[in-house]
Amino acid sequence: MVSLDGISIRTLSDTQYMNSHDDLLTKLASDVEKDSLLIQDFMIRMLRIKSVNPNMGGQGEAERAQFLESFLKSEGFSVTRSDVIDGEFSGMLRPNLSARLEGKDGSRNLWFISHMDTVPEGSRDLWETDPFEPTVKDGKIIARGAEDNGQSLVGSLFALRELKKLGVKLPFNVGVWLVSDEEFASRCGIKHLLKGTNFKKEDLILVPDAGTPTGVDIEIAEKGLLWLKLTVRGKQVHASLPRKGVNAHRVGMKLALDLDDFLHAKYKASDPLFDEPLSTFEPTKKEANVPNVNTAPGLDVFYFDCRVLPRYSLDEVISDIRARISEYQERYSVVISMEQVQKEPAGPATPEKSEVATLLAEAVRRISKVQPRFVGIGGQTVGNLFRMEGIPTAVWSTVDDVPHEPNEYSRMKNLINDTEVFAALPLFAAIVK
Ligand SMILES: [Zn+2]
Repeated sequence: MVSLDGISIRTLSDTQYMNSHDDLLTKLASDVEKDSLLIQDFMIRMLRIKSVNPNMGGQGEAERAQFLESFLKSEGFSVTRSDVIDGEFSGMLRPNLSARLEGKDGSRNLWFISHMDTVPEGSRDLWETDPFEPTVKDGKIIARGAEDNGQSLVGSLFALRELKKLGVKLPFNVGVWLVSDEEFASRCGIKHLLKGTNFKKEDLILVPDAGTPTGVDIEIAEKGLLWLKLTVRGKQVHASLPRKGVNAHRVGMKLALDLDDFLHAKYKASDPLFDEPLSTFEPTKKEANVPNVNTAPGLDVFYFDCRVLPRYSLDEVISDIRARISEYQERYSVVISMEQVQKEPAGPATPEKSEVATLLAEAVRRISKVQPRFVGIGGQTVGNLFRMEGIPTAVWSTVDDVPHEPNEYSRMKNLINDTEVFAALPLFAAIVK
């Protein structure tokens, strides 16, 4: 047994330690390589079991979960389940399961979070092969759910298995959570798990459910998301006699442009971490008003898509807009209502110096042999739900980014590479401080 805990390694010289660590990584790489056909075969067997989210017309995750639980048990893991009996689908079982290896510091966990559910196949005509009979071609496994989130699920599962076989003393507990319901709203998955005591602030969370083809981008921050519907009510009249009514469309346009200017001016901070460094406030959808040219509309409905840097509060944005609305109501004799179509505040960015970000960056640098960079995105992943709880979370994987597409696939080399990255990650804990 090679000891990796902080105490015993201090008895070795730096060079000695680095050498033993390098040996360990070499052993890990060769073990994963040797198992690559086994990993591929396991992935194929898993993808054959349909696991389409019931909110999208599927039969749910129960059968796939059973397959995964049996595998974990056959590998000697004990499995914890935190299932939901879903009243919305006449008591359907919505499974969530976890397994872990105990580490020296048993008070903290490194969790790999992946989801078992998939979206449906969509239009069959667009598939060149059966979406539920995985096909291996040109180094790819083609099937619904191969990339999203099959690759990372299988990768993290086998990383755990490789670490068990390696028999090293891990610095902290390392485990996987395989969850339901990510493709819809995570009600029976992550949101259910976060209500319990499954995670703590000291944990390290990796959500390998988004990524880039080179694997350089480590996502550590997301913007807050706010979708607003604004409805302006005036008084509809003949367009030749506008003074007899109140043209809601004119007021709506003025308000939209005013909000556009005001919000961009007030929330103007720029954060180079994000690909789009500014907060964005876009007037987007516009509902049809009158069908004819010669009527001044009494109703105007438009929408804003706002993506706000995590440093700002969405509630402040909302109260600013409300103040603007009051002014407009008084000035133009209209009634304006605002509906929050969607509101997802952003949790604080995970610090670049956090343990999970540092360890992942080191594993990516050493295993994927690319120079990683930290990024923020305007979209949202379940990573944000953990950040909202104050738990540092990184989102990373190596994928061609083809989720939900027809002919979705995972590249075997990415599956194998990421399995190795996941397994190597905790092994850097004693080195990178
Ligand atoms: Zn996904």
